Amino acid sequence: MMKTPFVTLEQVKEITKTYPTPFHLYDEKGIRENARKLNQAFAWNKGFREYFAVKATPNPFLLKILKEEGCGADCSSLTELMLSEAVGLTGHDIMFSSNVTPPEEYKKAYELGAYINLDDYTHIDFLEKLTGIPETIFCRYNPGGVFGMGTDIMDTPGEAKYGFKKNQLLEGFLRLKRMGAKHFGVHSFLASNTVSNDYYPELARILFELAVEIKEKTGISLEYINLSGGIGVPYYPDQKPNDIMVIGEGVREKFEEILVPAGLGNIALFTELGRFMLAPYGCLVARAIHEKHTYREYIGLDACAVDLMRPAMYGAYHHITVLGKENEPCEHFYDVTGSLCENNDKFAVERMLPEINVGDYLVLHDTGAHGYAMGYNYNGKLKHAELLLKEDGSVQLIRRPETPKDYFATFDFCDVLKDIKY
Ligand SMILES: *Cc1c(COP(=O)(O)O)cnc(C)c1O
Repeated sequence: MMKTPFVTLEQVKEITKTYPTPFHLYDEKGIRENARKLNQAFAWNKGFREYFAVKATPNPFLLKILKEEGCGADCSSLTELMLSEAVGLTGHDIMFSSNVTPPEEYKKAYELGAYINLDDYTHIDFLEKLTGIPETIFCRYNPGGVFGMGTDIMDTPGEAKYGFKKNQLLEGFLRLKRMGAKHFGVHSFLASNTVSNDYYPELARILFELAVEIKEKTGISLEYINLSGGIGVPYYPDQKPNDIMVIGEGVREKFEEILVPAGLGNIALFTELGRFMLAPYGCLVARAIHEKHTYREYIGLDACAVDLMRPAMYGAYHHITVLGKENEPCEHFYDVTGSLCENNDKFAVERMLPEINVGDYLVLHDTGAHGYAMGYNYNGKLKHAELLLKEDGSVQLIRRPETPKDYFATFDFCDVLKDIKY
């Protein structure tokens, strides 16, 4: 199978007349179509809403597009809350998922009227003292142990820092009720980047059965269940993409089977997808600036791990297309690298690709989520621009590249560094 970029060589040549490489490019059309499909897949659930995980791609221009498609925002920090507020997402448009949360972040979330999702039993008293308990409150569940589905999807909630144990959750809801909470929701995130239509239905089964147990043991009827993130995307060309319609239907079956008979058929479902919403609709466009022939064949790009850290951090695979050479045979064995003084700054290791020449444009696929956002300024390298390919084919700069002045802005050392002109 082949992965085709959403931009062509001709388009990239046109874009680079105004905006030089490297840059992240986002595809508005793809983002909107995908968001609409998600909403359609869960349209059977009254109250369904996607809260986009802001950490995946914290750019207000993209948040605004998602807002126009009906999405809210899932935040976990002060600046994520501020970004959401800036695009007009406030109150119950925001889900604030806490973990090791500092007081000022809880305060901001409370002031905005966000749904607050507590990470631990001890946070109940922490929040009570700080702001009081809001009328609607969520708790995050961690079932512990190993989460497996008999496929390659496996994760270890028992080693994860997040969430309440079950007995803490039951006790917690009762305590919250005594403190005045009136509406309750539960949240859980058990596996990341699942390329399988079965993950969400399985997670739903666990949470729906939990809701029934909560009702039986505490008398509390949950009103919200947040399936959080975790629906993945096919980074490799031979992976079969998730079918969101099949996923929505799978969750509906569990809902009818477990919640409806228990008198919990009014529960609203939330999702907090990040990767699924944006990863395929962003790419990193870079140019080959060096080739090197030593113990391996190297192609050096004008982008580096500062722009895309997933390969360096997790050994993650990002497919590469050499623009204009889509149909040439992949007969060259390359390491495709950036310029950091870190040998893990490699976008691809021993990858078969068409012959690459200096000047060629490369597209690194699926960087729309956890791409730009994870970047860092190691080696004093500056982060590059983000561009939006709009539905009408025009291109908008949605974040300018960093300048040395940005990099030096947080200390006041000498005039040489302050009076910088670029
Ligand atoms: C990271 C995160 C998400 C989004 O995860 P994806 O893998 O991008 O779908 C959702 N909810 C919470 C609480 C998260 O931390």
